[in-house]
Amino acid sequence: MATTEQALTAEETPQVAFTLELNQDQKDIRDWVHGFARDVVRPAAHEWDEREGTPWPIIEEAAKIGLYGFEGMAQLFADPTGLTMPIANEELFWGDAGIGMAIMGTGLAVASIVGQGTGEQIGEWIPRCFGTPTDLKVAAFCASEPNAGSDVSNVRTTAKFDEATNEWVLNGQKAWATNGGISDVHVVIASVDPTLGSRGHAAFLVSMAEHSGIEQGAKVSKHGLRASHTADVHLDDCRIPAGNVLGGKEKLDERLARVREGKRSKSQAAMQTFEASRPTVGAQAIGIARAAYEYALDYAKEREQFGKKIIENQAIAFALADMKLEIDAARLLVWRASWMGRTGQKFENAEGSMSKLKAGEVATWATERAMHILGGNGYTREYPVERWHRDAKIYTIFEGTSEIQRMVIARAISGMQIR
Ligand SMILES: Cc1cc2nc3c(=O)[nH]c(=O)nc-3n(C[C@H](O)[C@H](O)[C@H](O)COP(=O)(O)OP(=O)(O)OC[C@H]3O[C@@H](n4cnc5c(N)ncnc54)[C@H](O)[C@@H]3O)c2cc1C
Repeated sequence: MATTEQALTAEETPQVAFTLELNQDQKDIRDWVHGFARDVVRPAAHEWDEREGTPWPIIEEAAKIGLYGFEGMAQLFADPTGLTMPIANEELFWGDAGIGMAIMGTGLAVASIVGQGTGEQIGEWIPRCFGTPTDLKVAAFCASEPNAGSDVSNVRTTAKFDEATNEWVLNGQKAWATNGGISDVHVVIASVDPTLGSRGHAAFLVSMAEHSGIEQGAKVSKHGLRASHTADVHLDDCRIPAGNVLGGKEKLDERLARVREGKRSKSQAAMQTFEASRPTVGAQAIGIARAAYEYALDYAKEREQFGKKIIENQAIAFALADMKLEIDAARLLVWRASWMGRTGQKFENAEGSMSKLKAGEVATWATERAMHILGGNGYTREYPVERWHRDAKIYTIFEGTSEIQRMVIARAISGMQIR
């Protein structure tokens, strides 16, 4: 029998179901994505931030190694523990968030199709989101509108069914869509029955190549994440086949009938997509935070003032200690939510929202700290830290602002309608 002072032998170690040790596949994918982020993404980051354009050559490189594409995404989704997706995102966004989003932005449309589509829709439309290595495509998820950001129930884009032609007719304006207008596949959230609020919404598959009446509006010039394309999308009598509603028209009709009878409906098109993608978005924020922390740590060990390294001052060393602590804490929340999501556990306490909230706030705070540790250099474009700070801020805004995440968590823990 081992005493508490002695280590347990292998035979004495109880069999445990819980482990934070990554398996070999997870380590291999982490190292593979990290290598791509270090060798291809990071060296291109400054250029594409300045150009404010979609980095197609880098997306092509990602497609060549199998990171961008149907198979690559399927490989990340496949891990039954759910950890490979956040691990890969953290590594890629450690390289650069703008380019990372140009590569991973398609994932939001994909998540929505996987989450709500029929088997047939998944088989047909997901490959179309990525195109082929010789004809690459990206995809867009269009929920937000000028007057419907946090308040998704206020979506004004309508989808009216035309019995005569067996088509949906979409009209409205979408705002801030990642990859909006430069994609073939656009997943568009529209209201089928405005009297039902967000419970009257459905998600529609619109192809820029196939359907008329959809076009890009103004491209948005941004504070950060500038290698990722963001634009308005206009829908003007855009006609799409009856079968292009995610989940199928029959299922939608049944769901709307249940809602009209006053029964509860599980499905709210935009919310379902966001709940599933929040931990992954959190992992992206952690990648940015980690990049800034590592850079600031190295800098503080080199930079001398008053005849000593600046890290020898507790003020600097403790700031770095707190950064490491907060980044690790955020990662644990992200891994928990990813694991829960992948293993089909219900987010009883809005664990998905918790992970995204913590990671976004840590990234914003840690990149600001890193910039401060670099002093004047941190504020210049000669150093990457100011870019990381600009990139981090969006993580407290999109996919639900920090206030909205707190509202979701507060409602989940209280069971009350907190407003
Ligand atoms: C770079 C970028 C990419 C994006 N990509 C996409 C995309 O691909 N698809 C998509 O559909 N959308 C996308 N968006 C839109 C994004 O999701 C919205 O900007 C976000 O949800 C916030 O909405 P809003 O901008 O209208 O802010 P508002 O909703 O107007 O919020 C303004 C402020 O008020 C606060 N607030 C609002 N309501 C409450 C409340 N009840 N209680 C407390 N505070 C509140 C908010 O927290 C925020 O601080 C993107 C945005 C950006 C900037």
